[in-house]
Amino acid sequence: METVPSNEKLSEPQRSVLDGSSLGLSNSSLGLSNLDKLDKGELYQKAFTGFSKLNLRQRYLRLQELGVLKTEDLEFLRQGGITSTDLAENFIENVLGYFQLPLGVATHFVIDGEPYVIPMAVEETSIIAAASKTAKWVKEFGTISTQVMGAEIIGQIQFAKVRDLNNLRKVIKENEATWVSELNEKVASGLVRRGGGVTRMVLRDILRPDGLTMAVLHVYANPCDAMGANVINQVCEYLKSPLEIKSGEVVTMCILSNLVDSKLTKSRIEMTGLETELMERIEEASLFAHCDPYRAATNNKGILNGIDPILIATGNDWRAVEAGAHAYAAQDGQYRSLTKWSVKNQTLIGELTAPLIVGIVGGVTQLHPMARLSLRILGVDSANKLSRICAAVGLVQNLGALRALTTVGIIEGHMKLHIRNLTLGAGATDRESPIVQKRLEQILSLQKRISLQNAVEVLNELRLKNKLVAPEPNPTSVCT
Ligand code: NAD
Repeated sequence: METVPSNEKLSEPQRSVLDGSSLGLSNSSLGLSNLDKLDKGELYQKAFTGFSKLNLRQRYLRLQELGVLKTEDLEFLRQGGITSTDLAENFIENVLGYFQLPLGVATHFVIDGEPYVIPMAVEETSIIAAASKTAKWVKEFGTISTQVMGAEIIGQIQFAKVRDLNNLRKVIKENEATWVSELNEKVASGLVRRGGGVTRMVLRDILRPDGLTMAVLHVYANPCDAMGANVINQVCEYLKSPLEIKSGEVVTMCILSNLVDSKLTKSRIEMTGLETELMERIEEASLFAHCDPYRAATNNKGILNGIDPILIATGNDWRAVEAGAHAYAAQDGQYRSLTKWSVKNQTLIGELTAPLIVGIVGGVTQLHPMARLSLRILGVDSANKLSRICAAVGLVQNLGALRALTTVGIIEGHMKLHIRNLTLGAGATDRESPIVQKRLEQILSLQKRISLQNAVEVLNELRLKNKLVAPEPNPTSVCT
């Protein structure tokens, strides 16, 4: 664990959180009697205790005091993020404006011994709450470790109907070294400068439905801290002509593959001290998602509930990661869970393995101010670290869902938070909202289900009782 061993070494904002001064809290109310012994983990623990109960201003303040947000970040957020459409005009075509998603932070994550604040851009209620709650539970009973296996992404060059496969194989073998050098000099020099670049080539052959043979050349490259899609596409396009000239074959198309099984990210959770029955239930739920594609689809959706919001917040290509994750989940011919949970020696062990190819440079990651801000909040200095965080959050999100599903069910927690949306959808005013929400919570705990209709009825009753005049309900704005 990264430690901040002495109060002397803490930054000013961190020190102020320790003494509680700028939070309006005294030393004793934070219970920090021995500051010298406080490490970064404890500091984050203190700062995020009760975080969800704070109002927006207090949340800003606390993140500023931790050094996670700077004064200019706060200004930017307070103004509502990007306002001018100039940036959007550069990104896409036929721009009308922005679609704004809520940006929040998941707390209590300790990954590979280091505490993180996780920015998540997402519209779905309960994802951030579940991630934070489960991360806290994992922190109490276990650890999260991560690793990246492999470094290369894959570009594909297709020869739809190869005439002489053996000759193509021979030509590639003879020229591979020269072509790799040429590609690294002419197309991928930016990657070479950073320790990456094109590495090797592998020819595959595929039997076509018409009995002919298709050949596919895989070109491997290390994209360093970029996702590398544009780079590898250019590499493959460049190689098209020399390949055709030397082999006499016709190249049909060139494009990267999102099924990057040559660079996989793995996360692992180990927890001890849990009830045996709970661990066994989670193991059974995991087996369900391994054996049944109908369950696997929803299980993996839950995992991506944790991953996609980070990808969106950091300006990464979430469609690419989704496509790669789903393709990897079906690699043995059946669509399966990306995670596996088992119990060994009274320890709950969970693992997630997936191609989570992300960048901290390239694409819009350094162009979109919100993406730059999210990368700063995470404090990541490499694409691999971002990928490992995604794997960790995905696994934690999966655990949170499995824990809920195998105990109280997912409805209770989810609907409790969804009540806010229902209240809004029924058209409650700020004044009416707390009363309607409270009544809906009572209905939920009694009936174990709740709908927009309930919210509309509760609101009507309230208005009748108080003889309040309020705007017409707008029941179309939420789904039940
Ligand atoms: P990019 O081309 O914008 O940036 C990569 C470049 O950044 C490299 O050429 C390199 O010179 C430079 N660079 C600077 N510092 C670097 C560092 N530390 N490490 C690595 N490179 C560094 O982006 P990209 O990553 O090649 O492509 C990502 C974009 O491609 C995304 O916007 C994605 O949506 C898009 N895309 C995706 C697909 C797909 O997934 N199927 C297909 C086409 C395009």
